[in-house]
Amino acid sequence: MPRTRADGKKTQIVVVGGGAGGLELVTRLGSHFSRDDFDIILVDRNATHIWKPLLHEVAAGSLDANLDEVGYRGHAYRWGYRYFDGALEAIDRAAQQVVIAPICDEDGSEVIGRHRIRYDYLVIAVGSVSNDFGITGVKQHCLALESRPDADRFRRKLLNQCLRVSRALVADPASDATVKVVIVGGGATGVELAAELYSAADALGFYGLEVFDRQRLQVSLLEAGPRILPLLPEKLAAAAHGELENLGVNVLAGTQVVAATATAIHCKDGNIIPCDIRVWAAGVKGAEFLHEIGGLETTRNHQLRVRATMQTTLDDSIFALGDCASYTPPGAERPIPPRAQAAHQMAQTVFHNLRAAIESRPMKDFVYEDKGSLVNLARYSTVGSLMGNLVGGKMAIEGRLARFVYTSLYRMHLVAIHGWMKGLFLMVVGHVNQVVRPKLKLH
Ligand SMILES: Cc1cc2nc3c(=O)[nH]c(=O)nc-3n(C[C@H](O)[C@H](O)[C@H](O)COP(=O)(O)OP(=O)(O)OC[C@H]3O[C@@H](n4cnc5c(N)ncnc54)[C@H](O)[C@@H]3O)c2cc1C
Repeated sequence: MPRTRADGKKTQIVVVGGGAGGLELVTRLGSHFSRDDFDIILVDRNATHIWKPLLHEVAAGSLDANLDEVGYRGHAYRWGYRYFDGALEAIDRAAQQVVIAPICDEDGSEVIGRHRIRYDYLVIAVGSVSNDFGITGVKQHCLALESRPDADRFRRKLLNQCLRVSRALVADPASDATVKVVIVGGGATGVELAAELYSAADALGFYGLEVFDRQRLQVSLLEAGPRILPLLPEKLAAAAHGELENLGVNVLAGTQVVAATATAIHCKDGNIIPCDIRVWAAGVKGAEFLHEIGGLETTRNHQLRVRATMQTTLDDSIFALGDCASYTPPGAERPIPPRAQAAHQMAQTVFHNLRAAIESRPMKDFVYEDKGSLVNLARYSTVGSLMGNLVGGKMAIEGRLARFVYTSLYRMHLVAIHGWMKGLFLMVVGHVNQVVRPKLKLH
C-alpha cells in the first residue's frame, strides 16, 4: 500500500480502545508515521486512561486515580495522533468505516449524533467486561472492577458503610456492627482487592474514623475452584491464602455462587452470606457488542478471533489485540490469557505488522512470552513466579523482589506511553506523592 492513497487522502489508521494495549500502540504509531501522509486516530469512550491493574487500589482508596490518569487529548497532541471521544458500535467493512454511537451529555441531550470514521487499517483494542456466567442477580447487585467509575463507586460505598458502622460504634461502643464485603473470584483481582481493603481499614483511623479498625471489616473471598490463585504454583497460592487469613479474610475455596441479592450471596452448598457490598471478579469475556461485529469471526465469549499476525481471521485490514482478541498459539491448548503483559506484547506485534503492511514487507507472528504472574497483597506481601531465560525457567519469588517486579510492569507501561524522560519523572513524582499525600483518598 502506498504511503498516501491514490485519491490523495491520508492513510488512516484507527485504533479503538486506549487501554493497556491500544494506548501503547497509538503512542508508537503517532511518533513513527509522518502526519503529512498518515492520520492516526484513537477512539475511546472515556476521556482518560487509567491502567486497569491499578483499579483495586483506586477502589480501596489507596491510590488517587486523578494523579495516575492520562488525558487522551493532551497525550494525543504530544504523540502525534488524534483522539475522538466515542464508543464503537458497528463496523461497515464494505465501506471501511467504523460506526460511533451518539455522544450525549450528562442530562442525556445529544452532543454529536451517530457518525462514521473511515479507516484503511483498523485495530480493535476494547478490552473485556466482567463475565457473570448468567448467574441470577449478579448484574443487578454486584459491583465489577472494569473501569474508573466502577472503582469510584465501590470506594464511595465502602466509605459510606464504614461511616455507618463508626456512627453505630460512637452511639453504642458495644455494638457488633461490621462492614461486610463479599468478593467473588479468587484470582489476582479478588485477592489483591481483599488485602487492599484491610490496608485501607487500618488507615481510616487516621482520618476521622478513630473508632473504626480492621476488626470491623469482614471480607469473604469466594472461589469456585479448589484453591485461590490457580495461575500460581500451589506453594505460593497457599502462602497468599495464609496471609489473607492472617489479615482476617474468610477464604472459601470450592464455593460456587448460584445467586446474588441486594443483601446476600447464595452459594450452591446452601450457605447464604449476608453482605453490604458484593464484588464480582470471577472472570472476563468480550463485550456483547463485539459478537460477530461487521461479520467478523468471534468466540462464544464475544472475543474476536485473530491469526498469528493479529489480523482478524476474515479481514486483513482489521487487527485485534488484548483482552478482546482470542488467539491460540500452535500446539497450545488455551488462548493467550487476558493480561496486561499480553496486551503490551500484542501491541508491539501489531505495530510491527502495520508497518510491514504499509511498507509491503512480510508480517511477523505473535509469540507470547509469559513473564510470570505476580500478586500484590497491598503493603503486606507480594508473591509470584517469574518465567523466562533470565531465571532459567520458572522461579517462585516473594517479598521485596516480587514487589519490585510487580511495580515494574506499571513502570514499563508508563515508559511505553510517555517515553523514558517523562516516564521516569512520573515514577519519582509517584514516590513523592506516597510521602506527602494522605494514605487514602476519602472523597
Ligand atoms: C482490578 C484488575 C487488576 C488487574 N491486574 C493485573 C495484573 O496484575 N497483571 C496483568 O497482567 N493484568 C492484570 N489485569 C488485567 C489487565 O488489566 C488487562 O488484561 C489489560 O488491561 C487488557 O488491556 P486491553 O488493552 O486489552 O484493554 P483495557 O486496558 O481494558 O482497555 C480497553 C479500552 O477500551 C475502551 N473501550 C471499551 N469499549 C469501547 C467502545 N465500545 N468504544 C471505544 N472504546 C472502548 C475502554 O474505555 C478502555 O480504555 C487486571 C485487571 C483488573 C480489572
